[in-house]
Amino acid sequence: MSERLNELVKLESELYFPGVRRWPLALVRGAGSTVWDSEGKTYIDLTAGWGVTSIGHSHPKLVAAISDQAQTLMQTTNTVYSEPQLELAQRLGRFTPPGLKRCFFVSSGAEANEGALKLAHKSTGRSRYVATLNSFHGRTLGVMGCLGQDKYRARWKGIVREATFVPYGDLDAAKAALSNDVAGMIVEPVQGEGGVVVPPPGYIKGLSAACREVGARLILDEIQTGIGRTGRWFAFEHSGVTPDILTLAKGLGGGVPIGAFMATDEVLASLEPGDHGGTYAGNLLTCRAAATVLEVIEDEELVARSARLGDDVLTRLADLANRSPERIESVRGRGLLIGLVLRNAAHAAAAHTRMREHGVLVNLTADRVLRLFPALNIPEDELDQALDVLEKQVLA
Ligand code: PLP
Repeated sequence: MSERLNELVKLESELYFPGVRRWPLALVRGAGSTVWDSEGKTYIDLTAGWGVTSIGHSHPKLVAAISDQAQTLMQTTNTVYSEPQLELAQRLGRFTPPGLKRCFFVSSGAEANEGALKLAHKSTGRSRYVATLNSFHGRTLGVMGCLGQDKYRARWKGIVREATFVPYGDLDAAKAALSNDVAGMIVEPVQGEGGVVVPPPGYIKGLSAACREVGARLILDEIQTGIGRTGRWFAFEHSGVTPDILTLAKGLGGGVPIGAFMATDEVLASLEPGDHGGTYAGNLLTCRAAATVLEVIEDEELVARSARLGDDVLTRLADLANRSPERIESVRGRGLLIGLVLRNAAHAAAAHTRMREHGVLVNLTADRVLRLFPALNIPEDELDQALDVLEKQVLA
């Protein structure tokens, strides 16, 4: 470890909460899909800062918009109207179906889900939620009751209000859990943290119908899958249904902390001033940034690109899996949200480390799934180069 990194490790142990297990790495600069560490070594970033930097690091238009807004007005009291907020709402509404145009901005994914759970309760008068096993929805106390992974939830058991959990992709199990005391079912259209799990065809559509039948709200958590990640603006478009409540974050801000939740008029009829809010909710700087991210994604046609590149990667990795069945169990994903499932957790951990040593950042999730979720505008040669490392140096 370099001297500088040693210093940072020491400083963190003295000054910062021990909340996260770090990689032995400090990143100091980024441009497009390349990042630099404190030693000047470069990496191809297939994590996009956890699926956030959808238009790459430091996109010039995003930098210019943030800089301009910073010089104009960054924050006001939330009791005044805000042009950037409404411009973002207008832009977002261009891509959502009729009936799902109204939104509220917050500062993170977990907060967006908190808002969604509150809306489901307020609009139904009910208090029970259904969620899926292996889901991830954030770490605030309310939302954690719907987080379907014991490793995160169990340690807070006494203070979270637990949802009814059902296996992901199992429509019959969901139907059995849904009754007329359920406020809402929260589900990811593709489970991200749970290992890039794509549900069987008809699942989301079936959930929508089952929720409607008992008067519960379908909450789609598109914090990871939204904003072009799966090759459509929203992953629910693959299923042909519109959720009652939609949550977004990550790729929406391209790097600034913003989340959003959107809901139908029927759901919103119950909402009154004071039900939800926050000092930074819809802050001018983050809204201006997110509106610019949407503009870039639209202008550069990055949603179609995500679909096309994602298909190419899936084809290439499927071929690799066919040639290495003893190491690779499967390849799955949609658009540029891709999971390579290795057979063995120790191999997966070693592959993850070796990728980094060879200058490629990926995520290891669900013990043995290498998750690739690069910027939607990652240059094709960089993506190829990263896959070459995986194929020829790490899994060879
Ligand atoms: N929902 C999903 C599907 C996520 O992947 C995440 C974060 O990884 C969250 C919610 C929580 O978002 P945040 O970390 O911004 O609170």
